[in-house]
Amino acid sequence: MAIADDFVLPPPPTVSVPVAGGGRFPVRRVYCVGRNYAEHAREMGHEPGREPPFFFGKPADVLVTGGADAPYPSLTADLHHEIEVVVALKSGGRDIDAATALDHVFGYAVGIDLTRRDLQAIAKKGGRPWDFAKGFDHSAPIGDIVPAERIGHPKSGAITLDVNGARRQTGDISEMIFPVAEAIAELSKAVELKAGDLIFTGTPAGVAAVVRGDVLAGTVAGIGTVGVRIV
Ligand code: MN
Repeated sequence: MAIADDFVLPPPPTVSVPVAGGGRFPVRRVYCVGRNYAEHAREMGHEPGREPPFFFGKPADVLVTGGADAPYPSLTADLHHEIEVVVALKSGGRDIDAATALDHVFGYAVGIDLTRRDLQAIAKKGGRPWDFAKGFDHSAPIGDIVPAERIGHPKSGAITLDVNGARRQTGDISEMIFPVAEAIAELSKAVELKAGDLIFTGTPAGVAAVVRGDVLAGTVAGIGTVGVRIV
């Protein structure tokens, strides 16, 4: 009997994200950076600073790929969009040096960190985990991953999100408090990073609520786009 036959249930499928130009990127874990743009930190009621960044996670299988629709989730009346650069790792390690961190990057995508803001506010108030504010089903639409071999490692460029054609979020990825290399270095102090990990790198200002029927279109200059309809 083959080892694979030892599973007592059918194993879940490997989550993957399409790669621009062909192939699929297999996803191991999804990490997210909190408050990585000063103006967004301020709109959330925090004075931005250079204290170490904090991180949270989403399960890999909440990714929404290929422009598929995302159902409006349960338990919220305040579903927010957060447009973000997503980093896809081809290798990892512990205590990675920021100077070599970009060597671990396979490529980049544009993603949306959908957030049940009302549940997050309750969690913050009660000192409870953010898991269900952030890691619910279909909470991470993501565009195709573009290999760094093709686009390099963009350090600046406009990041925008439109809802039904109206601009909601705008910024520049050069405004990240912890740029990609530093975010990788900081995260690798807490966990061993590995090939297949994705890192959502935080959102600029302008987060706001969406409703069923809204069409979200995000872009990051030099990387690509993401599109999703809330149904
Ligand atoms: Mn976010």
